[in-house]
Amino acid sequence: MVKKLLIANRGEIAARILRACREMCIDAVTVYSTADAESLHAMFAEEAVCIGPPRAADSYLNADAILTVAKATGCDAVHPGYGFLSENADFADACRAAGLTFVGPSGDVIRKMGNKAAARALMQSVGVPVVPGSDGPVASAEEAQAVADRIGYPVLIKAAAGGGGRGMRRVYGPEELADAFREAAAEALACFGSDEMYLEKLILQPRHIEFQILADRFGNVIQLGERDCSVQRKNQKLLEETPSHGLTPELREQMGAAAVLAAKAAGYENAGTVEFVLAPDKSFYFIEMNTRIQVEHPVTEMVTAMDLVREQIRIASGLPLRIRQEDVQLHGHAIECRINAEDPAHGFAPRPGKADFLYFPGGPGVRIDTCMYNGYEIPPYYDSMVAKVIAWAPTRLEAIRRMRRALEELIIDGLQTNAELMHQILYHPTFVRGNYTTAFLDEHLESLLDWISRVEASEE
Ligand code: ADP
Repeated sequence: MVKKLLIANRGEIAARILRACREMCIDAVTVYSTADAESLHAMFAEEAVCIGPPRAADSYLNADAILTVAKATGCDAVHPGYGFLSENADFADACRAAGLTFVGPSGDVIRKMGNKAAARALMQSVGVPVVPGSDGPVASAEEAQAVADRIGYPVLIKAAAGGGGRGMRRVYGPEELADAFREAAAEALACFGSDEMYLEKLILQPRHIEFQILADRFGNVIQLGERDCSVQRKNQKLLEETPSHGLTPELREQMGAAAVLAAKAAGYENAGTVEFVLAPDKSFYFIEMNTRIQVEHPVTEMVTAMDLVREQIRIASGLPLRIRQEDVQLHGHAIECRINAEDPAHGFAPRPGKADFLYFPGGPGVRIDTCMYNGYEIPPYYDSMVAKVIAWAPTRLEAIRRMRRALEELIIDGLQTNAELMHQILYHPTFVRGNYTTAFLDEHLESLLDWISRVEASEE
């Protein structure tokens, strides 16, 4: 069993992992950059070590520094959280080579799933449905054009190494393709150091449905239900809920079985997420597998009453899963709102700054995962997500009401955030009816922002 864990991350997820360690009586060490000396994860931990200057490349992405700290502080395991080194196969290998347990799958599995074009081919070979598209990568705009002619427009150009919605372009007709291909490839090269591209048919008005899976080293794989992450802006998630209003029990079972099949095909171990797009005609297609804990994992924790970080550490320690698929019970409904320090009215520009005064909601069924405390100064170097508000209730409508109530209680003075936009979304008839798609926010953003500015004007 893990005795001392190094948390190779920052912010709310580092605090989240620290909490699991405390409950499991595992000692923990956090690492921080010079910009994060006053951060919660640095102050919250019994042991915290500075690993470098603010730039992530010099600190949270500095594998050598992190491994040196892990060894020097007597850790026997490393948890990478999400982002940063969490899906870096070489880092997973380096941890293991240094005799440390990596809380995640093997480097080989991360590598296999990290190339989305290759992952697609693997899934296709075992019968998991994938979006019609290119067979493997496409090397040039001309080749992309040929594939697009074959599968038909609109198409989506994607980066094999992609993540966070970057290196992706929608193309509605042949005249747009060449420029879009070059732009997407250039963006991919800048973001991921690789411009390997592939093509998929663009599914119109889809839902983003993902399944949480757990897999141990003895070949047991279970799924813990889905998360509907269709409230997105620029292919990035803003609000997630479970269960999805878009699934029938039969479809849930089919997609869950496909997710388990996908994990088995990958030889997966630890917690992971299998992502699908669900078309309006209810056909579903694998898009990618995330080989780490996800931002939105708390909604699954709320309906399963499980601690997924605890399960990750148990699996990494070589323990078998404690439950079988037939023991998985999903209770009630959970929603998560990501609160970002940003200005939705100005293109969602990041707005780092100082949280002068905070009040977090409480009461039944409300959970807050945050990196903030009163007086905390948000550094400008990292992600703008500063809190996750999670609400659970027996039914969807009650969960929506509870989340509205929680956001009404939330006070973040001194910082501009998207909390008001979240609140408005929870009143939008399309959202409340539950049959929204990934197009929802784009279609309604202007009217939502307009409504917010009118409310604000009337309050002045
Ligand atoms: P990333 O790794 O950058 O997050 P994904 O492949 O997970 O990229 O896709 C991000 C989002 O883009 C999805 O949640 C979905 O909304 C949208 N998307 C991806 N593939 C398709 C597709 N073939 N058709 C329509 N939308 C898609």
